Amino acid sequence: FWYSCLKHFENALNAQQFNTWIKPLQLDLSQCNDNSPVLIAPNRFVLQWVKENFIPHIEVMAQQHFAREIHFQLILGNSVEAKTINGENNIRNMSEQAIPAVSVKPASKKKNVSQLNPNFTFDSFVTGKANQLARAGAIQVAERPGIAYNPLFIYGGVGLGKTHLIQAIGNYVLEHNEEAKVRYVHAEKYVSDVVSAYQHKSFDKFKLYYHSLDVLLVDDVQFFGGKNRTQEEFFYAFNTLIEAHKQVIITCDCYPKEISGLEERLVSRFGWGLTVAVEPPELEMRVAILLKKALIDKIVLDEHVAFFIAKHIRSNVRELEGALKRILAYSRFTGHSITLELAKEALKDLLAVQNRQISIENIQKTVADYYKIKVAEMYSKKRTRVVARPRQIAMAVAKELTQLSLPDIGEAFGGRDHTTVLHAYRKITELRASDPTISRDYNALLHILRG
Ligand code: ADP
Ligand code: MG
Repeated sequence: FWYSCLKHFENALNAQQFNTWIKPLQLDLSQCNDNSPVLIAPNRFVLQWVKENFIPHIEVMAQQHFAREIHFQLILGNSVEAKTINGENNIRNMSEQAIPAVSVKPASKKKNVSQLNPNFTFDSFVTGKANQLARAGAIQVAERPGIAYNPLFIYGGVGLGKTHLIQAIGNYVLEHNEEAKVRYVHAEKYVSDVVSAYQHKSFDKFKLYYHSLDVLLVDDVQFFGGKNRTQEEFFYAFNTLIEAHKQVIITCDCYPKEISGLEERLVSRFGWGLTVAVEPPELEMRVAILLKKALIDKIVLDEHVAFFIAKHIRSNVRELEGALKRILAYSRFTGHSITLELAKEALKDLLAVQNRQISIENIQKTVADYYKIKVAEMYSKKRTRVVARPRQIAMAVAKELTQLSLPDIGEAFGGRDHTTVLHAYRKITELRASDPTISRDYNALLHILRG
């Protein structure tokens, strides 16, 4: 069994991972009994990492193999230190490079106050080129809140791990200091807190609360755009916290300067500390994320199935997770294990939609026809509403239906800047919620384009 296990990991991991974590493990034949085999790890780093990331998976495979529950024990190879490690985490004594992160203890009462999701940890966050700077910044801030960088500003598109990463900071801080007053708040919630402070004339209470935090995490700050009273309150909170060396962490779907309707004084303050981006993950990283999710959820996922999913789901991590969940549900429903065939079958509809490859030219022509304007108006510089609104709609549709980046879309619309595309997308999203005509037109266009 152990041999087939090794083979499995050799296939499922890249060579570096395999050589670092799995290859050094030794099965201790002298201590083996049938239900709790013993594995020897060469050092604490490997032990802790394997324990958290691979043992659950190995146990699932063992259970399938032997048709009964098997619990692996891990011990240190060095006989002086040899003892079983039971969940105690020594991250602070470990070098940061060797072990990427920590696990979180069972949620304490504090977590509810903080509004953090205990599953969003550094441990469950896969790192690659797309997010390594953001993660490095986040770790420094988590280790030295209020001192390393203030504020930490993380920006990037949807589903790329911003919320996960800032909550990981909050969880880390709380884990190392139970007394810390940490609060995660989505920007929309902050806005509604301001509104209710208005209604109840309770700005004093509002201030007392937000100004007394040790770590304030504000998610999706683009929602502050155009909300002046919120911005004013946040300005005070921000200044008070920063002056007191309390940590402020912000996420946004764009760069501070691109937040439309944001006061200049906030724009400049957001740039005081460290500003880092998260980018869409590349193929191998998407595979790594899938394998990680599978490990966490104790799903046996073959590498070539993971590659298949990752090749076809390119947009963001949330959709990647969605695809995996779909496959899992399909597998449970049919009672078949997860094979390439099963994955293809489970994702059939999803992929059919993607494969219908809606081109940007097609979108421009369809939208122009719908509004009875010339296709050329899509690239023209004309700004009259008769052409500007359909053009914005076409950009928004392009963002929704294609995999193209904002700069690519801007390029296709007569070399416009990506901020123009983002603005169009936001504007149309807003109008779809408030203007029934736009909403109807937009849905009709989606319908036509999707066939
Ligand atoms: P955002 O806030 O940028 O829209 P989220 O943080 O909500 O994105 O991430 C969406 C989902 O994808 C979450 O379930 C999150 O755990 C997962 N996710 C994103 N990036 C990663 C990553 N690098 N490693 C593991 N999971 C990730
Ligand atoms: Mg988010």
